[in-house]
Amino acid sequence: MSVPVFDGHNDTLLNLYMNYDASAEQFFQEINGGHIDYSRAQKAGLRGGFFAIFPPPYAGLSVPDPEDYLMEEGYDVPLPEEVDAEACKRVTDHMIDLLYRMESSSNHNFKVVTNFDRLRETFAHNQLAAVLHFEGAEAINPDLSNLENYYQKGLRSLGLVWSRPNAFAQGVPYRYPSTGDIGPGLTKAGKSLVKKCNQLGIMLDTSHLNEKGFWDVVSVSDAPIVATHSNSYSLCPISRNLTDEQLNAIRASQGVVGVTYSVNMLRSDGKMNRDTSLQEIVRHIRYIVDLIGVEHVALGSDFDGTTLPNELKDVTGVPKVVDLLRKEGFTLEEVHKIASQNWMSVLKKTWK
Ligand code: ZN
Repeated sequence: MSVPVFDGHNDTLLNLYMNYDASAEQFFQEINGGHIDYSRAQKAGLRGGFFAIFPPPYAGLSVPDPEDYLMEEGYDVPLPEEVDAEACKRVTDHMIDLLYRMESSSNHNFKVVTNFDRLRETFAHNQLAAVLHFEGAEAINPDLSNLENYYQKGLRSLGLVWSRPNAFAQGVPYRYPSTGDIGPGLTKAGKSLVKKCNQLGIMLDTSHLNEKGFWDVVSVSDAPIVATHSNSYSLCPISRNLTDEQLNAIRASQGVVGVTYSVNMLRSDGKMNRDTSLQEIVRHIRYIVDLIGVEHVALGSDFDGTTLPNELKDVTGVPKVVDLLRKEGFTLEEVHKIASQNWMSVLKKTWK
């Protein structure tokens, strides 16, 4: 039996929305290409995760590709422009609708979970638990007037930004080599949003935030600090990764970092090269565990949202990562923490 996995970040809703006409049924009928569908998730032991809503790259919402900005020694992708909030709201509503249609076409195998008891139950019953996550707060009004409405619709995890600016904060552009200390911190609205999320019990995700924004969240938030899909800057000096100081702040807050499988965030050369060993994933996990402890490290694949090592291929490659963790000397108990329990306990501490 495979080790059950609760994963920090996927863009499967985006894949279905962009490439399969937002078909909920497609998820249960196998998806050619992409990284996750229901049967592959089952095979891999994937029992839950954060399902991101990311307003996708269509006209006016373009996403730059680091490969277009390669330089001799790395890259420096310009920060995309702020996107249209109304367009983001429309896309967000469509994708929320898609998530609930997935639940209703799942024959009780896929559940959108909004409280901890339901999460634990769903996980224990070998169903797939989905936590509704926004990757970027563009759909939220700067006066927060629609935040509770999204909470009612199931929003339980929020990344203030993707790697672009919005009314609340500034995302970190993809730059290698560079720390994430690029640009200003949270706006006044951003700080209010953090406090309101604390009150409602919405988990706050710092992945994609620049460094000043990260430290603003640390000083304003009273919940555990979380990065759903980020790695160690000491091992791979890309702006999206976290310095040792940031990782220590995550530990101090009882938070968690989800190690991501993006090749350019794993490799010490920061290259977008699929010929990347799975040992690189283990290397980041080992480093962060040694620095901040095994209670604070989890998985944050970025399936359907990034370039993966060839060896991993898709979600069915996760058991290989689990095997490598065992070979690296992690006990089965530690592997269970990394694979699922650490995310579960952070949600237990964060949700009301
Ligand atoms: Zn992301």
